[in-house]
Amino acid sequence: MQIKCNVLDRQFQMYQAEYEQAALRVLRSGWYVLGNEVCQFEEEFAQFTGRKYCVGLNSGLDALIMSVRALNIGRGDEVIVQANTYIATVLGITENGATPVFVEPDECFNIDANKIEQVITDKTKAIMVTHLYGQASEMTKIMDIAKKHQLQIIEDCAQSHGACFDGKMTGTFGISGCFSFYPTKNLGAFGDAGAVVTDDEIFAEKLRMMRNYGSKVKYHNEIAGINSRLDEMQAALLRVKLSHLRELNNERKMLAQRYNKGITNPLLILPKVRDGAESIYHQYVVRCISRDSLQKVLEQNGIQTQIHYPIPPHLAKCYHFLGHKKGDYPITESYADEVLSLPIYTGMTLEEQDYVIEKINVYRT
Ligand SMILES: *Cc1c(COP(=O)(O)O)cnc(C)c1O
Repeated sequence: MQIKCNVLDRQFQMYQAEYEQAALRVLRSGWYVLGNEVCQFEEEFAQFTGRKYCVGLNSGLDALIMSVRALNIGRGDEVIVQANTYIATVLGITENGATPVFVEPDECFNIDANKIEQVITDKTKAIMVTHLYGQASEMTKIMDIAKKHQLQIIEDCAQSHGACFDGKMTGTFGISGCFSFYPTKNLGAFGDAGAVVTDDEIFAEKLRMMRNYGSKVKYHNEIAGINSRLDEMQAALLRVKLSHLRELNNERKMLAQRYNKGITNPLLILPKVRDGAESIYHQYVVRCISRDSLQKVLEQNGIQTQIHYPIPPHLAKCYHFLGHKKGDYPITESYADEVLSLPIYTGMTLEEQDYVIEKINVYRT
């Protein structure tokens, strides 16, 4: 059997008629960027998260970069971020000239809230929180720290559409909830797209201007903006997928429970669930000391897996100038050597998953 780590056309086929109807509606409308579909999607996504405003953008990275910029965080400022996140989170900081200050992750792969206060300085302006792999970070503690030290919270929700902490949705804790709708995300478009959700009217307004060359009224440029507009096609297709997101997330949760029950090989450490957190399993990430050999054996059996992520940002070539070296963040570095993301996607059949479980359980070093 051949098992890919992700198969995107199955979710398309599931709602094919609805997607095609939405696409035709846009094609026939004669309006293709920032129009009615974007407005509708923004309203629907704001409502889904429980926030007042949503601003549709070009990508998740833009959501991060623009959030930092709209908060006037830049050169000379420090932003705290977990060391094992995806590079885009860190780029959101460094693209503004600010300095990322890394913190080790906890055993749920999110920022270790107990290690945040020790790196706060008088230059610290914000904490960037990534709800990695679909599980919410320890938001009660993090919000207490932010309040005490008057720091902004920017949430990277690129992997956590619909994930909650204590019943409250990720993206609704800080001033800015940053989402990516890259095709592989739980709420994925059919191209690039992203958004910010917020309750702050002025912040939302600034992002709206920024995404469209800094103007509210055409050719009246109030700030130096960029082009990060969401197009009508992606917005229309996202509206279809959003209307099914709860069932899609439930399917992943069901698949994750089957992995939890089915995998009995003691060489693997299964993902831990935080008290109060509800994961939407964007990824199902196991740890294994002999990760590379496990990955190879699975590959030989036709099972594709991924590593999120093999090189932590502090050791990436592009961040050489930050002056970090191997050994600076040992937990992060050990995760980079041990994590493996198993296939989990919309439309994965139980037969496919049972095959993966079987091959994992017979694995020996
Ligand atoms: C995908 C992702 C991003 C970037 O989103 P794009 O839409 O690809 O720009 C940022 N952060 C995390 C954690 C992601 O997984």
